[in-house]
Amino acid sequence: GEPKVSNFLRQIIEKDIAQGTYAERRWAGVPGGADVQGKGQPDPAKIRTRFPPEPNGYLHIGHAKSICINFGLAEEYGGVCHLRFDDTNPEKEDTEYVNSIIDAVKWLGFSWNGEPGKANPDALPYQASDYFDFMYECALYLIGAGLAYVDEQTSEEMRINRGDFNTPGKASPFRSRTPAENLTRFQEMRDGQHEDGSMVLRAKIDMASPNINLRDPAIYRVRRATHHNTGDKWCIYPMYTFAHPIEDALEQITHSLCTLEFEDQRPFYDWLLEKLCEGGLFASPPPRQYEFARLNLTYVITSKRKLAQLVYDHKVNGWDDPRLPTIVGLRRRGYTPESLKLFAERIGVTKSDSWIDYSTLEGCLREDLENKAHRGMAVLDPVKLVLTNWAEVFGSDDHTETCEQPALPHSAVPEGSEPPPARQFKIGKEVWIEREDFEEVPPKGYKRLFPGNVVRLKGGYVIECTGAGAKTAEGKVIEVHAKVIPNTKSGTPGADSVKAKAAITWVGVSDGVQAEVRLYDRLFSDANPDAGDKDFIEALNPDSLKVVTAFVEPSLALAQPDQKFQFERFGYFVADRVDHVAGSKPVFNRVAGLKDSWGK
Ligand code: ATP
Ligand code: MG
Ligand code: MG
Repeated sequence: GEPKVSNFLRQIIEKDIAQGTYAERRWAGVPGGADVQGKGQPDPAKIRTRFPPEPNGYLHIGHAKSICINFGLAEEYGGVCHLRFDDTNPEKEDTEYVNSIIDAVKWLGFSWNGEPGKANPDALPYQASDYFDFMYECALYLIGAGLAYVDEQTSEEMRINRGDFNTPGKASPFRSRTPAENLTRFQEMRDGQHEDGSMVLRAKIDMASPNINLRDPAIYRVRRATHHNTGDKWCIYPMYTFAHPIEDALEQITHSLCTLEFEDQRPFYDWLLEKLCEGGLFASPPPRQYEFARLNLTYVITSKRKLAQLVYDHKVNGWDDPRLPTIVGLRRRGYTPESLKLFAERIGVTKSDSWIDYSTLEGCLREDLENKAHRGMAVLDPVKLVLTNWAEVFGSDDHTETCEQPALPHSAVPEGSEPPPARQFKIGKEVWIEREDFEEVPPKGYKRLFPGNVVRLKGGYVIECTGAGAKTAEGKVIEVHAKVIPNTKSGTPGADSVKAKAAITWVGVSDGVQAEVRLYDRLFSDANPDAGDKDFIEALNPDSLKVVTAFVEPSLALAQPDQKFQFERFGYFVADRVDHVAGSKPVFNRVAGLKDSWGK
């Protein structure tokens, strides 16, 4: 793998491990904390991180960065990372999303609830909604300690009285209620005696704070909605900013890593956990929140809402469309877990927002596949080449010769290990070549087929072009003619006896298999499709998908779904995980070209 470069998160973790910051923290006696979700007392781990998606959509490349950071750091430092569904919002969640998130994390090669050395990939992930009872206890404690109150102002009044950057907030008339009064009201809220939106529970902090998030933030609201986990048990739900620190503390998280937009929430995170530790609901020291920059990738949008719009408006073919930056889309496109991990490591962790060029992602894919993907030949824009002297040389028009080429170049096979078996394919009187490899009147410097020129059919024979054969009424070439030069087969003693000007790729007509090849290009023509108030739909690239009927050599036709290849001269391709059928119905997706073309 990539050498690890230190970053601010690694430094913080190393310091905490060296100082034993969390070494003595134990939760025995903490209500709910000793047995989170029936999982028992967690083993003491050096560090504990978490990846907490809201199950309201499919994960994308940005989440992959976050997954690699959280699971990666835990792995690196002998710690544990929790997969936790942040499902405290009853309306938006769906089990389709839950399952897709589980698949994505597993596919990337991580496991949760895996105490070091005994990973159990089938264990259930954590669910924030399992902690609703404990969150309610926390709210009761805050009320009792005079740190929370029930506010009956309208949401409009609350908004105005909160003030803004220039104006300090104004205290609510309900702010001075006694704890006993607040307790009664809050229990009434829970018991369904108040309308949705009629009142909220607020933390009592500081209405004059320069940080607006500390001006008595709402922590519970009345909401009659059926929750996918808790059903109709609750008609009050905790706000995310209140729920999240409690989830972290309950699960004994040490380092709570999130993206920069949560920086302003950190003072409330710290305030809340400090108060709950003082109240004996948690043991000190509480988890700490650290923020890193989210991933912005050129030519890509990562807003779940906008991705959903592309899917539901049929601009793409589902969540796993290979043009989408969703993890399922990248997977179907042919990206490997290793390439995404390499990408996450390479872009690093920083504290300021920046844009990453899409070519960086493709570069990681190429690097990963360079030595892994077997080579093969495919003709994407076929025209027939007829070797007119074939019977003269080999005795019969039906004669075929078997050719052999290595599946991996010598440089890709590690020293001392066996190379994979060679590919075999047949050459006969007729082969498919690329239309662009023949010119009746060659442009200057052209080295491929034109009348009189000598080239090698890669891995086969040297041939001499004699000109165009049949043409359509419009003059389009249907057949190219050439003569095979005897005794020049690759790998035989005569191979170098005739000098060829170029080697061209080809597929035999006798054993080549017809294949559907999906040539994907960038989904957007604009590098920043949703910057400012641009309409990202208008930035869609009309040529993001071109489907061609190609011919592939037998080894490619026999690919297993999801197997990756380097099509010689064209780049990396994958047998489509959904539509490809080995042998009978080959379907390939282009993952990436051989060279970077994003800057052009
Ligand atoms: P979206 O804004 O697209 O809905 P989100 O941030 O709401 O995404 P969550 O499911 O809440 O999505 O995110 C889970 C975790 O993934 C969070 O910790 C979040 O910070 C992180 N994350 C989301 N998008 C990115 C990104 N572009 N780069 C890095 N991390 C991200
Ligand atoms: Mg979110
Ligand atoms: Mg969001």
